Amino acid sequence: MKKVYFIGSGFSCGAGAPLTKDILHNIKRRAKSLPPAHELNEIVTKIIKPFESLINNNQIDAESLLTALNNFSIARHVLQENNRSKLIRWRDDLKWTIIWEIGKSVENNPNKNLYDYFVKNLVDKNDAILSLNYDLIVENAFERTNVQYDPGYHFGNNQYGDFTQVAKFQFQNKSMPRLIKLHGSMNWLKCNGHVQGNGTVIDCPNNGNLWVFSKKVADTQYFAQHHFTKNLKHCDTCDSILDPVIIPPQLDKSDLIKNHYQILWNQAYLELIKADEITFIGCSLREADVDVCNLLRFAVNDPKARVSSINVIDPTMNTIDRFKRFFRPGKITVKPIKMDFIEYLRTMQSTN
Ligand SMILES: [Zn+2]
Repeated sequence: MKKVYFIGSGFSCGAGAPLTKDILHNIKRRAKSLPPAHELNEIVTKIIKPFESLINNNQIDAESLLTALNNFSIARHVLQENNRSKLIRWRDDLKWTIIWEIGKSVENNPNKNLYDYFVKNLVDKNDAILSLNYDLIVENAFERTNVQYDPGYHFGNNQYGDFTQVAKFQFQNKSMPRLIKLHGSMNWLKCNGHVQGNGTVIDCPNNGNLWVFSKKVADTQYFAQHHFTKNLKHCDTCDSILDPVIIPPQLDKSDLIKNHYQILWNQAYLELIKADEITFIGCSLREADVDVCNLLRFAVNDPKARVSSINVIDPTMNTIDRFKRFFRPGKITVKPIKMDFIEYLRTMQSTN
């Protein structure tokens, strides 16, 4: 029986990852505990303080702030800066700060053992994990347990090298679980072309190509060495700072979906139609996430689709009801498992 796990933010919560709505609050709190001269405090003063009242009233979160900073007409007014390349730099600083905060939050994952149990005992060779999260919790569990998996890129002999350029995603035809990260990953970087002071972007032959920090590096030195733009990796062709591929759902998803990122969505579709059982873990399935809803809607209704049962692991009844409405009764049974993921893993572990 082939299983597909579809994981969202509720999956990572149990490992200590912050919810999107909490990230900016956590960054502010963390900055306060650091010396005033620490670069995190510079970033908070420069980028987060101007939006403080909106943040305090929970009117914007990390993703909507990134989206706002992507819109230069808004960003230049609020940050009172007209230099486009400076604004891009500040937006990048915010991205790295978000990555750093998530990295810090999960580095002492209180439930490591349970995540290890998940990849070792619940995920089989022919299964797939489709992830909407950009943290590295699943990768690190695979690494700790020495379970081979296929993330769609390969380092060859340089598996634990620092930094590798990946021409395109390619999934191997081997029996090992596949990990497909549909919204990007904290250890992926891309070149957006070189931005000049006046804001003109010079296109780069590397545009859209991907670089990947290897997993072990990502786990240990990565956050310490690369958290802010001072020490960042540059494109070997145009020398611009490489941009992390973390994709807030409402932002530049189109970029992820076009070009070679298409391979990920294509592979996700193939995994879904081959699945006998799909388990959603901590996924909210909001209609606003149009691409994810379409992927699911079309894949499970594909004439070749085999899926007959869907599990929804989630503690909130609202989410479970949303799934029941989405997958209308008929050939598919929606089986709610009303608990959070950690509770679920503990139950599984104790009954096996
Ligand atoms: Zn470049």
